[in-house]
Amino acid sequence: MVNIYHDKDADLSVLKNEVVAVIGYGNQGRSQALNMRDSGLKVIVGNIKDRSFNQAMEDGFETYLIPEAVKKASIVLILLPDEVQPYVYKDSIEPNLDKGDAIVFAHGYNIHYGFLKPREDIDVLMVAPRMVGKFVRELYESGSGAPVFFYAHSDATGRAKDRVLALCKAIGATRVGAMEITVAEETELDHFSEHFIAPVISRALILSYEVLTELGYTPEAVLLETYMSGELGEVASSLAKDGLVTQLPFHSRTSQYGQLIYADVVMPDDYKNLIRDIVKEIQTAEFARDWQLEQLLGYPKFNKLLKQAFEHPINQAEKKLREQVRIKFE
Ligand code: NDP
Repeated sequence: MVNIYHDKDADLSVLKNEVVAVIGYGNQGRSQALNMRDSGLKVIVGNIKDRSFNQAMEDGFETYLIPEAVKKASIVLILLPDEVQPYVYKDSIEPNLDKGDAIVFAHGYNIHYGFLKPREDIDVLMVAPRMVGKFVRELYESGSGAPVFFYAHSDATGRAKDRVLALCKAIGATRVGAMEITVAEETELDHFSEHFIAPVISRALILSYEVLTELGYTPEAVLLETYMSGELGEVASSLAKDGLVTQLPFHSRTSQYGQLIYADVVMPDDYKNLIRDIVKEIQTAEFARDWQLEQLLGYPKFNKLLKQAFEHPINQAEKKLREQVRIKFE
């Protein structure tokens, strides 16, 4: 049975004598640092000297270079891009950790695939928000929070679970629910969403755009209909709020019938085999090895794919539509 924890299950006072260093003041770093400070924790920031460093200073944090911040803290949140974590850990974090310190990740990738091997005398914790950084902050400020997957991966101190739950509470996650799953499960599920759910949506929109404009439909109208009105975003929110099936009655009966009758035409049950293959590539680390090689080679495939994506005519069509239809999004 899954364990989901709420505010009553976590005690912030277990961190009352601890200094928390947030290493990397980017998407997650800034939001989590601000939330934890507002929750009463002693938070400092460690970053390279760049615009994020200046931002942390402007936000009123004691801000240091990474080695110095790690020395001053007993809990170290490693909120750097996943690709750089192993190098920064080896050079600037590990040599400055004391026995009994804790390191915390917002995604299990480097631990799960063994790209980063922590020392055995420290706690290794995961607090992985299921939300982009901006909303981790906005939800907290609104009195709510972002749900997280969390785990005490290594417990050197006997306090790992108390510590990780207190961190979940400090960023606002236990206000809504912090779910305990392993680092392996978090990493593999995260990659599954990125390798299947996201491409299914974006590829469906691109192919639809290509075919419909070939058939003579107005490019701007295709975009407004398929995603640029924001309706798709509203439906996506409704899936979470109301449920995949229970949101159906918000659509017209004609729409409901069309959606239901075409569901297994566009995606027959055979797709389960593709889903299995995609999961297998994640589980066997085939994707992780490919991505690792890509990084070592200087991102040739990644850059080529990004270039192709940005050169697609849909980008120009979006720009033209945005100039004429000025919908204000939150
Ligand atoms: P960002 O890309 O926002 O970068 C974080 C920080 O790292 C920035 O301050 C950045 O500086 C700094 N940085 C970049 N390169 C280096 C380097 N070579 N050496 C030292 N510092 C560097 O990271 P995210 O917040 O997106 O991701 C952090 C972690 O959170 C990752 O593990 C990610 O998987 C996880 N996560 C992210 C989510 C998200 O919303 N993006 C959602 C859930 C989890 P600068 O700004 O100057 O580049």
